[in-house]
Amino acid sequence: MKNVVVHASTSYEVVIGSGASALIGEKLKELGRTGKVLIVSDSNVAPLYAEGVADELVYHGFEPTIFTFDAGEESKNLSTYGDVLAFLAEEGFTRTDTVLALGGGVVGDLAGFAAATYMRGIHFINMPTSLLAAIDSSVGGKTAVDMPQGKNLVGAFYQPELVLFDTDFMKTLPYDEIRNGLGEGVKYAVLEGGEIFSILDAGLTSENLEDFIALSVDAKRRIVEADEKEGGQRKLLNLGHTVAHAVETLTEFVVPHGVAVAYGVRVMARLAYERGELSEEDFYKIEELLLGNDLALELNPVEELIPYFSADKKKAGQVLTLVTIAGIGDCRLTNVNVEDLPRYFEGA
Ligand code: ADP
Ligand code: ZN
Repeated sequence: MKNVVVHASTSYEVVIGSGASALIGEKLKELGRTGKVLIVSDSNVAPLYAEGVADELVYHGFEPTIFTFDAGEESKNLSTYGDVLAFLAEEGFTRTDTVLALGGGVVGDLAGFAAATYMRGIHFINMPTSLLAAIDSSVGGKTAVDMPQGKNLVGAFYQPELVLFDTDFMKTLPYDEIRNGLGEGVKYAVLEGGEIFSILDAGLTSENLEDFIALSVDAKRRIVEADEKEGGQRKLLNLGHTVAHAVETLTEFVVPHGVAVAYGVRVMARLAYERGELSEEDFYKIEELLLGNDLALELNPVEELIPYFSADKKKAGQVLTLVTIAGIGDCRLTNVNVEDLPRYFEGA
């Protein structure tokens, strides 16, 4: 079992390991929680794990109820969000009660936003069950739902009081979802280098999974915490994301997020190598990392993507801040004028 403590506007513990879900009752008690717990989950995850979590809660004196919605990003909308709120109200939840997200990023975003806004905020616990949610969305406090006008258009920053990731839950995660998580993992590997890179390079296994997740969460924690002191460091987490968001927009989200990020990292590595900013050795190490993880993809050519860069949230006036790769474990923020982008990306 591994622990990472995140210091955001509030501090909370991230517990990672085999059997971590069985700790839910005692951990909630330690936090001083009592009463009702709404377990929010989706139609894939609920049948697998919701009863087990509920039993654990009952054993420790809580009153759990389960709210399940249809799995998939399509459910992450105002309608499902309204359903969760209505359910909380009908069941008589008050500010001393708790919402618990049990699922991937979709569940975490939706349940987190419901928790952030019901009665102006009730206690929130996140139990991510996908690799992508474990290493990325479960830390940082972003919650949101989509609107027909765009993704994550309405949301709030709301920190969980505890994140529990049971590595045993990965056994049922479909291969495509593992690969999607690995795509975001490649980002951490290139940002950090060291052990995260070595683990992914050797290949994720049930033996190194706990270490990999703990190291990724810790990397995100460090970058997010540093942002409060040295402005803008959080932008490093956008490595590969300018390209990824353009791919997602252009393909109408047919390419999953993590896979698009892996391609984004690949493009940025190729760009840095062509520009003589990244050594041949590191460039090929990144290529091999991608290859070994079934992520050495050739998606939309960069020329096609550039027009979609500007729609990116990262655009500030006429300057785009790109995360560039100077080496494995050495990424930087580089400002490029929007009109210079085609020239800047030549050869990538
Ligand atoms: P994300 O990739 O952001 O976590 P989702 O929440 O949509 O996005 O999760 C991806 C898919 O994986 C969903 O279909 C979800 O139901 C499914 N899923 C998540 N965790 C598990 C798990 N441990 N076992 C089986 N399926 C899972
Ligand atoms: Zn991402």
